[in-house]
Amino acid sequence: MTTKRPPTALEKMGLNSPMALALHLPSRYEDETELFTIEEALGLGRFHSIQTQGVVIRNQVTFRPRRQLLVTIEDDTASLQLRFLNFYPSQQKQMAVGANVRVRGEVREGYQGAEMVHPTVRAVTPDSPLPASLTPVYPASAGLSQTIIRKAVLKALQDASLKESLAEFLPTKLMAEILPSNDWPPLQDAISYLHQPPADANTQSLLERTHPAWRRVQFEELLAQQISLKRAHAIRRERRAPSFEKDRQASKAKKTNASIEDGLQKVLPFELTSAQARVWSEIGLDLSNTFPMNRLLQGDVGSGKTVIAALAAARAMDHGYQAAIMAPTEILAEQHYLKMQEWFEPLGVKIAWLSGSLKAKEKRLAQEMIESGEAQLIIGTHALIQDKVSFAKLGLAVIDEQHRFGVRQRLEIQQRVGSELFYCHQLMMSATPIPRTLAMTYYADLDVSVIDELPPGRKPIATKVVKAARRDEVISGLHDWLAKGLQAYWVCPLIEESEVLQLQTAVESFEQLTQALPNFKVGLVHGRLKSEEKAAVMAAFKANEIQLLVATTVIEVGVDVPNAALMVIEHAERFGYAQIHQLRGRVGRGSADSVCILMYAEPLSLAAKERLQTLRETSDGFVIAERDLSLRGPGELLGAKQSGDAMLRFVDLQRDAWLIELAQTAAERLLAEHGDLVERHLERWLGSRTEFLKA
Ligand code: ADP
Ligand code: MG
Repeated sequence: MTTKRPPTALEKMGLNSPMALALHLPSRYEDETELFTIEEALGLGRFHSIQTQGVVIRNQVTFRPRRQLLVTIEDDTASLQLRFLNFYPSQQKQMAVGANVRVRGEVREGYQGAEMVHPTVRAVTPDSPLPASLTPVYPASAGLSQTIIRKAVLKALQDASLKESLAEFLPTKLMAEILPSNDWPPLQDAISYLHQPPADANTQSLLERTHPAWRRVQFEELLAQQISLKRAHAIRRERRAPSFEKDRQASKAKKTNASIEDGLQKVLPFELTSAQARVWSEIGLDLSNTFPMNRLLQGDVGSGKTVIAALAAARAMDHGYQAAIMAPTEILAEQHYLKMQEWFEPLGVKIAWLSGSLKAKEKRLAQEMIESGEAQLIIGTHALIQDKVSFAKLGLAVIDEQHRFGVRQRLEIQQRVGSELFYCHQLMMSATPIPRTLAMTYYADLDVSVIDELPPGRKPIATKVVKAARRDEVISGLHDWLAKGLQAYWVCPLIEESEVLQLQTAVESFEQLTQALPNFKVGLVHGRLKSEEKAAVMAAFKANEIQLLVATTVIEVGVDVPNAALMVIEHAERFGYAQIHQLRGRVGRGSADSVCILMYAEPLSLAAKERLQTLRETSDGFVIAERDLSLRGPGELLGAKQSGDAMLRFVDLQRDAWLIELAQTAAERLLAEHGDLVERHLERWLGSRTEFLKA
């Protein structure tokens, strides 16, 4: 089946079978079914496209103000000027004086009266029939005209094989029980309808994709997704993972009688909140299973997720397995490393640190410790996934701020024990709530635990929004603040276009603040520092040797210095919701009243104004995530975008949320009652794209 010829433009778009073409559905339609007289068009054609027809009475190329083609057409009622700024000789010929043309475009007021600029033009005879259906406009690519796609689709729709591929096989009874109404056409009819809607079709619902024909297609697509998710779920449950039961660990704990978990509970300087205790028991139950955990621990910034990760790691270690904790940035990973050292080293736990910026030799040493099993707990950045570290016996992987890694980077660590393949338990942690629609679709195979309570004694963060013009006032307030023995952060503006520029402004602010606050030690931390340098600055800040920390957004996540309860964010208008929320979460961790000052430069866009206002009014992560979501759409969250696009082509999770539940029910029933149909359905919808199901 190897062909030598290069792929056609259609094939390049994946339109290489009748089925693929049938599912290449229009993005919109043009109504060429209605024809207006020129007089009517002059009145109706303002602000929307209209079709009219006439005889050419003038065809002239003028050169002022620039080369252009002016054509006038006329019918019994009036005349209309057409203007073409770019044109081919063939067009000029097509519109020769005396020719009959059908044109379509918007009418607008030009210098010489009403005109159409660049209308679409079709040569006709006075009695050429009008098409009976709306004209589809397809997603296209460069070098692929609508005409070619239309022809190919029409041909595909006649193809005998389609009868089979689009045959109705979902049981009528099941559909009737599940679907909300019976006006959804059978699949084949729905598809034909969408390619060639009749002249009187409800164009609005077609455009908005809420038409019953669209609903039918969307439902089927979601059904395929739900089935494949349920399968992935079943597959996971068939996989083996080491079971970490609490009761059994005492006998397994080596040498000492005390388990690491009990030891950790003892060294912790606080009691778990009841929310933490609840999620820990959920996770503990997962860990005792013989199939791998796949759980997301969701909790607002500062809710105390780290200790849960530590407890889970302790349990794995008590069973003689390794645990790994990964974070998206070096700073965050280092914070974890420091915390884990503080908690675990007194208990004799061996910890390995692995990050991208380690020297080759240090890296090799760390890797040896990990490979030999000497390291019980491994902390690091993405490097842990990217460098294909081989673990001696990994039982648990914790991935902090999981959404930053993206779906693709989800790790699949497995190891052979005897003849059996073992997978490790996975715990993802995130401060970003998953919207329900995503939880039911892309993340359906993810169990979710939520910490919905902050540790006691937290004072709410007072957020103030201040003009940059009042910078001096802010600095003098900062002076008073530091004089009370408290610490503070100064966050420099995000400059997305240029890291160099970002660094430069950070250095400037650092110098200015050093001068303005001579009695205090000011530190600077940014992304360009070596990891030891960063660690040194952070350690000095933690030890209160530095009182004011000037930082770029590298401190965005995870940094934990309770005595630092004031944060100033410069150019807050440049940050998104989530970023400010994360940043602000760095303060409000101690018992002092916390303050966050959002400084902004004018002029402020409407969106930025609304954003700052919301952030001032609420510090509830759910509310903020919702605002964020309505702005950006769910695809961008949690890295779902890439794989999401590929799997759902016709469904919009926000618009079609209510369909998800129907599809879920249908998938369950289909799997339970009609197992034989499941394959067929998946094949129809996913065909060669089944690779996405493994994600
Ligand atoms: P996040 O969920 O944002 O990762 P952390 O795990 O960093 O939050 O916890 C934030 C702070 O709260 C840390 O200083 C941590 O030691 C503290 N903390 C966590 N749990 C409790 C608790 N139950 N009581 C008091 N302080 C806690
Ligand atoms: Mg954290």
